[in-house]
This record gives sequence, structure tokens and C-alpha cells, in this order.
Amino acid sequence: MTIDLSVLDDDQRVAAEAPRGPVCILAGAGTGKTRTITYRIANLIDRGTIAPNKVLAVTFTQRAAGEMRDRLRTMGIGGVQARTFHAAAMRQLQYFWPQIAGDLPWRLLDNKFPLVGRAARAAGLDTGKDMVRDLLGEIEWAKASVIGPDDYAARIAETPRTPPADPARVAQVYRNYEEAKTSPEGMLLDFDDLLLHVAGALENAPAVAEEFRAQYQTFVVDEYQDVTPLQQRVLEGWLGERDDLTVVGDANQTIYSFTGATPDYLLNFSRTYEHATVVKLQRDYRSTIEVTELANTVIGKAKGRVAGTRLELEGMRGHGPQPQFNGYDDEPAEARAVAQAIRKLLDDGVPAREIAILYRINAQSAAFEAALADAGIAYQVRGGEGFFQRAEIREAISNLVRAANRSDLPNDPVAVARAAFAPIGLTQNEPEGAQARERWQSLTALVDLIEEIVRTREAEDLPQVLRSLRQRAEAKQPPAVDGVTLASLHAAKGLEWDAVFLVGLVENTLPISHAIKAGDDQIEEERRLFYVGVTRAREHLHLSWSLSRQEGGRKNRSRSRFLDGIAPELEVEKSPERLKRNRRCHVCGNPLVTPADKALGRHEDCEPSYDENVLAALKRWRLDVSRAAGHPAYMVFSDATLIAIAEAMPTDEREMLNISGVGPMKVENYGAGVLSTLNEHRH
Ligand code: ATP
Ligand code: MG
Repeated sequence: MTIDLSVLDDDQRVAAEAPRGPVCILAGAGTGKTRTITYRIANLIDRGTIAPNKVLAVTFTQRAAGEMRDRLRTMGIGGVQARTFHAAAMRQLQYFWPQIAGDLPWRLLDNKFPLVGRAARAAGLDTGKDMVRDLLGEIEWAKASVIGPDDYAARIAETPRTPPADPARVAQVYRNYEEAKTSPEGMLLDFDDLLLHVAGALENAPAVAEEFRAQYQTFVVDEYQDVTPLQQRVLEGWLGERDDLTVVGDANQTIYSFTGATPDYLLNFSRTYEHATVVKLQRDYRSTIEVTELANTVIGKAKGRVAGTRLELEGMRGHGPQPQFNGYDDEPAEARAVAQAIRKLLDDGVPAREIAILYRINAQSAAFEAALADAGIAYQVRGGEGFFQRAEIREAISNLVRAANRSDLPNDPVAVARAAFAPIGLTQNEPEGAQARERWQSLTALVDLIEEIVRTREAEDLPQVLRSLRQRAEAKQPPAVDGVTLASLHAAKGLEWDAVFLVGLVENTLPISHAIKAGDDQIEEERRLFYVGVTRAREHLHLSWSLSRQEGGRKNRSRSRFLDGIAPELEVEKSPERLKRNRRCHVCGNPLVTPADKALGRHEDCEPSYDENVLAALKRWRLDVSRAAGHPAYMVFSDATLIAIAEAMPTDEREMLNISGVGPMKVENYGAGVLSTLNEHRH
């Protein structure tokens, strides 16, 4: 049997046929990277260069590993190990443990939560669920970045990350957690410990290293742009002094930086291995010319070091329909339109499993699940349970059931729901902290759904609302093969569909609010996420957004900045307000609509950020000035303008002019007084 390499193009074939040794494929989305390494493995084995059981291929997900094994098997190649880093490390540790730790028993810790909770309590920190989850994420990041508890505080200061608590405390939680896993009776190992111990054994136990390296000789890593320093250390342990390593990746698809992943190893590969075969691929076999052109434009706007490595994609699938851009008044309208467009595709013969709806955060799935269910379209939610299966939603509904049993019930089910969800995280404003935010978004989506149920008269009182919710929750999920896919952009990595709907493309969702706060690097990561989304489509690509979250609600959202210069602008979006930076809320970044909000420089219900003492001082100053001039205080400055000044803390007259409600006359009359008042309060 011979592997037919004529199905590869010339560049791909160079990578597939290169002799054993370092090979790097640096290429954009859909250029056949995954396909090429599969052929490379098959070809090396087929030519007798290496035995199948001496090859270890690493993929990003278990599913990708399964697909690679299947593809190899259909080419007549069995026995290749294709696994994720974690799965590979798990097996290796099970095998080598007796050699490194004797009969000290160990067990995989699959739920870190209770241990981290205890560690947090011992460090004197809040042990609410969300805080514990954030601490857990932080410990995972530190371990993936090969940062120990003693170095944590110093290292975090060098990164743009916001730690969930004071760094010294986080370090203490981390230390407590590590200590709690070890006892004379045995050890608990979390997923990262598996990697740490494998790396340690290969570095320090020569017998282990020798045996391992005799077994595995050829290594292949897909999605290498998202490797963490810890995974890289394992990879180096596997290799030892050898260099039989093939890596493929696209730095412009780095989307897991928040877990510690970095494209540096990919970008530096040809420096690390100067004799490496480096192949760049530009022909995009996945997508039509229309889709690849859009993808090129999207990533063409990227900035920074990673962006400098991009290559223009060349669409190989010929022409297809133009990508569609659609803005809607509100999210339910957006969801209904998407469901309708999907219905049309299905009628035209596109199979449901070839259609996907992709979004930034899981809470966004709710509206689309509802619209698909209403339209009778089968779907499945990937990389997470359906909306109603989520822990916070189940908790919320049981709170609502409990509330329904009370006698003093208000009439309005929406008000009851808000009250019932308040104790489990539905605060008035979106909270800080990744977990708290996700929970808040889910709960808000549930309130919106209840509002919708009431508004459309599907239900009038709470028992009826509960019945409607139950019906939705019980609607059976269809079998995986037949449904439309709903997935987050992160979960869509490496996959492809005939038709892709990128939905909810609004500021604060994509880019996500915490990325906007964190600055340029994070914005670029969000842009890459958008690029990943666009490049999932083979043929049909629909991009949409909506200006209000609720049906008929206030249009306080604006479409994603990533659409600027890409999608035609609608009249409402072109208004001068949108263009002026000071007409956007300085807290949430969305446009300001009412005069009061404009004067404040933020929405009234967005969390203010001024110092009370500064405002009090400005008011005292205003009182003095107005008394001296003999006219009412508001003629000097309105309360809203004073708040805006206290928030902006201008340092000179030019900066004062940027504040809404402060014109040249005001600056001339009061500028000096305001600035000297502020000067007394600067730190
Ligand atoms: P991503 O960056 O999204 O992971 P990728 O570079 O790994 O993409 P693949 O998934 O390997 O790309 O390939 C994209 C699509 O193009 C697949 O459907 C694949 O079968 C097809 N393809 C790749 N190379 C060729 C080729 N030479 N001829 C025909 N089809 C190809
Ligand atoms: Mg791939």
C-alpha cells in the first residue's frame, strides 16, 4: 500500500515528504495544516521510516485526536498514538510512577474546587463560588506558565493580567493548595501536575527518559500556536536531545493566551532548529474567495508582533455567495432572522450538521436556542451543556419554584424572578470577575426569556411561566449528527462548516468587556477570535448584531469595532454620536443616548468611578462661585457636569474642553478654579 500524496499541493507535499527531523508549517486557516501532518505521519510510516507505535501526535482536543486516528485508519495506518498533552501525560505517568515514586499512591484530582476553597479560607479570602473559581483559574494559569507560588507575586506584576485578589494572598492560596494535595498517605495530582511530573521525571530520572525515548521517536503537534510553557517543557522532555518534531500552527489563531498559551515557540521554531524544513501555506482549500477575502481584511487590521507573521489567504474553492451583514434592533429579532435563514439553507439542501451558529460567550446561546426551537430546527450545543442544563440556570429555576410557593407573591413574574435571582448573582450591574460575569450573563438571559414569555402572552402568571420554562428545558436534544451546531468561538477552533453564522457582534461581547478594559493585547486576541470565526465557513457566512439585548429595549449597544470598514454602516450607526469618543460611555464603551447620560459621560446605571471627596470639593467651589456671582449654582455647572469633571480629572483646559457640558466660555470663566480644586485632590 502506498499513500497517495497527489492529493496534496506542492507546498503541502514538501512538508509531508520531508525526512525525519524538524518541520514547521506556519500557515493561515484552512490551508490544510491538519491534513498535511496527517499525510506526513502516514507517509513516514508507509515508507518504513518509522513504526506506527513510535509516533506520538498531539492535538488540541480529544475530538481532534479521534479524528486524526480515524483519518489514519482509513488510509490503512493503525497504531499511531494521537492524544492531547494531558491524555498523553496521564498515560505516561501511570506507566512510570512506580519508577519515580515507588509505591506512594496517587490519584487524579478531577475536582479542584473544594481544595481551592479550603486554601482560600485558610488564606483569609472570600470563599464564594465565583471567587474560588477565579482563584482556581489563576492557579491553573500560573502552573501552565511554570510559575510557582513563591514567584507568583513578582511574575504577575510583569503581566497585564488582573489577579482575582491581592497577589500575595493569591500566592498563599496557591501554596496552601499545593500543600494540601500532598500527604504521607499519598498524593493528589491535578491535570497540570501530570504534566509537571512527566517533565520532572524525564529531566531527572535517566532510566525513565531512556525508556521513554526508546519508545517514542517522532512527535507531531497540531495547533502549536496555543501551547503553554508547561506543555512545551513536556515536549522538550519527550525529545531530549533529538529533533524529530513536526509542528503546525497559525499565530494569528492564538486564542488561549488567558490560559498561559503563547505563539512564541511556533514563531521561534526556525531559530531553535536552524536546519528545520519550514513550509508556509497560503492556499485556502476550505473557503470560497469571498470568505477568504473577508478573512484577509479582518486579520489585515491586526496590530502587533503576531500580526506581522500573517500571510494572505488565497481562496481555492472558487466563488460563492457574498458574506452577509445584518444589524437588528434587538437580540430576539436577530435570533429569529438567523433561524429563518437557517430554515432557508435547510430547504436548499444544506445538511443541518453543516451549519453552525458561533458566539463569544456561552450565555449568548439562549436566544438562539429559543429561536431554533420555535422554528422547529434541531440543534446541539457544543463545548458546554444547553442553556437549561447550566448549574446557575437550574439553581435559578429552583429558586423561582420556591418563590412561587409563597403567598405574598407580587403579580409581575419578571419582578419575582429578579428578586429570586439576586441572591445567586443577579446584581444590578455586571460584576467583576470572569465567573461572576458569566453567571450574571446567564441569569440576565433567563430574565430576558421570562420577560419575552410574559410579553408574548405565552404565560401570564408565575406558575404558567414555570411551565413554559419547563417545556423548553425538556425539549429533547436531537442526536448529534442531525442538528445545527451552536458553539463558542473558542470551541470552534480547527473545525469547519458549509454555513456559519457569527452572531452577537457587538462591543463588550466581541471584543469582550474585560478585554476592552485590559487594552491592546487583549483586543488583538479578540480580533483573532473573530478571524477564527470567519475562517470556519466554507461557503455561506452571515455576520449579525443587534442594538438592544431585549425585545423593543433601549438601543444601547453598538456593533463590534471589528466590523468597521468591513460591513456597510447603517444610518442609525452612522450618527455623529457614534464617531465622537466622548459620546460613548466611559465605563461600558457603548453610545450615550439621553442628554443626561451625555452630560455624565456614562449611562446613569453604569458604575461611576469618581472620588466622593473630589465631587464634594467641586460642589463647595461651585457654591462659592455662584454666591459671589449672585446666580444659581446650576448656571455654573450642572450636577451631571460636575460628576463628569470628577470622573475625568482633567489636568488642563484642553482636557476640560473634552468633557461634555464644558464649552470655551466655561473654561475661560471657571477653568482655573476647577483645575486648582482638582489639584488639591490629586494623588
Ligand atoms: P485550521 O487553521 O482552521 O486548523 P487547517 O490549516 O488545519 O485549518 P485543514 O482543516 O487541514 O486546514 O484543511 C481545511 C480543508 O481543506 C479541509 O476540508 C481539507 O480536507 C481541505 N484541504 C486541505 N488541503 C487540500 C488539498 N490540497 N486539496 C483539497 N482539499 C484540501
Ligand atoms: Mg487545523
